[in-house]
Amino acid sequence: MIHIENKELFEKKLLQIKKGGANSFHVIADFDRTLTEPGEKGEKGSSSYDPINKGITSEEFKKKEKEMFDYYYPIEISNTISQKEKDKAMEEWWDKYFSLAIKCGLDKKQMDKIIFESQMLWRKDIKEFFKILEESNIPLLIFSAGVGNMIDGQLRKNNFLTNNVHIVSNFFEFDKEGKGASHTKPCIHTFNKNESHIKSQDYKNEVLKRKNVILLGDSVGDLTMADGMEHDTVIKIGFLNHKDEKKEEIYNKSFDVVIKNEGMENINKLLKKILY
Ligand SMILES: [Mg+2]
Repeated sequence: MIHIENKELFEKKLLQIKKGGANSFHVIADFDRTLTEPGEKGEKGSSSYDPINKGITSEEFKKKEKEMFDYYYPIEISNTISQKEKDKAMEEWWDKYFSLAIKCGLDKKQMDKIIFESQMLWRKDIKEFFKILEESNIPLLIFSAGVGNMIDGQLRKNNFLTNNVHIVSNFFEFDKEGKGASHTKPCIHTFNKNESHIKSQDYKNEVLKRKNVILLGDSVGDLTMADGMEHDTVIKIGFLNHKDEKKEEIYNKSFDVVIKNEGMENINKLLKKILY
């Protein structure tokens, strides 16, 4: 099901993007539960962290990872804690998580094994989504507070990592011997996802020319993904993954388009309308 709160505004934006043409257009997408399936309600679902959390067998990791989750997750979803405090807590959480995984022995070999053995559940009709963007040479920025190595690996496994695809996320970095050494900084967490994190100058130059954007996300933190760069027209599309009336009201007001219980079908249709 699809909900468009302000149809007039949506049509206006769509027309502007279509007029701008393929050369003025790029797509920004969240990864976990946007390009992948959301999983059951109440579960954390199939996120890029899950295979890693399962794959690291150290007892210390399991214990501390759970402790961190129990401490920081309530802060992440709290309605009473200030945004400033939340930002600080998220930075701590992400930093501690990546450091803990390395401390507990995550190395390149194990990471490759985890990627090889895991299979993310993609949202239905995802293949066509990647195909449309590749064929029209539209840059796709995958913006994730998840684990970049996992996203990169999963895209490669499915031949989705074509030249037009760029990942901004958190990467484990390994030394020459393949030992875990560090992680990319600053951490991309739930509340600081925006285009100012793009490090590749080539990619930055590419999207600087492309001022019209379609943004895909599944949480309100994804709404800012196009911030940090100047844009003309942005259509924000939100996947509402689970039935939640309060959330639905917020999504209807914050996203131009809200998609419920669907694959990529309507996104693909929209892309074709713009590009073909
Ligand atoms: Mg997500």
